[in-house]
Amino acid sequence: MVFNPLELGKKVSKIVCKNDKRLYYRFRGGAFYGGIATADTVGCNLRCVFCWSWRSSHQIPKDAKLLAAEEVSSKLIEIARRRGYSLARITGGEPTLCSSHLLRVIDLVNEEGLLFILETNGILMGYDEKLAREIAKRNVFVRVSIKAPTPEKFSKITGASKEFFEYPFKALENLIRAGHPVRMMRASVVLGYGSEKEYAELLRRLASIHPELADVEWEIITLYPSVKRRLEKKGLLPSVYSVP
Ligand code: SF4
Repeated sequence: MVFNPLELGKKVSKIVCKNDKRLYYRFRGGAFYGGIATADTVGCNLRCVFCWSWRSSHQIPKDAKLLAAEEVSSKLIEIARRRGYSLARITGGEPTLCSSHLLRVIDLVNEEGLLFILETNGILMGYDEKLAREIAKRNVFVRVSIKAPTPEKFSKITGASKEFFEYPFKALENLIRAGHPVRMMRASVVLGYGSEKEYAELLRRLASIHPELADVEWEIITLYPSVKRRLEKKGLLPSVYSVP
């Protein structure tokens, strides 16, 4: 049975966000983007079969703690300073679920000169133009993940109703309308769930929003053993993948 990710997002937010605090279970450095201070949070509004972080996006780790934006940003800043990074991010779940908390974390890391990388599934920013306007006021590179090239495949992979396939595209449109520079956003497209024609159509769609958006980042699923098991069980192994 498919679900409405806006409704699921509300339910999950009630559990993972409290009084502008949010649940986190880990802080670390990371090699992505040439080095980035990373906070691993809890909770998502999608249920992607290939999610590498399903233990935190679909469940609540036992050691997760509610933290204020000030605590999260000071840990990120400390990691960045120690390792010489200029970037920070929140991953492990959907960062936009607790939007006031997220915006405060971004403000605090921006004040320390760090660029925030927002990795998002785009559902909430596609729904809420005001959130896109708030993001556009800040020093943020937005990476919007597009899980599949067609609404049907999107629904099978994420569990969400197929009309929400549109929302990541709307998120990019909302950001552009809010004046966020196109060089500060990118679509990240998961490979292996459609024909060449379907992916070509997806690129045309992105180019119609802005020509530079056709320059996408291709995302290749890594078949970690648990990811492989879940994909096989659902009959959703991608045609392209990497092995760990
Ligand atoms: S949107 Fe990201 S965090 Fe959420 S379920 Fe999908 S892959 Fe996992």
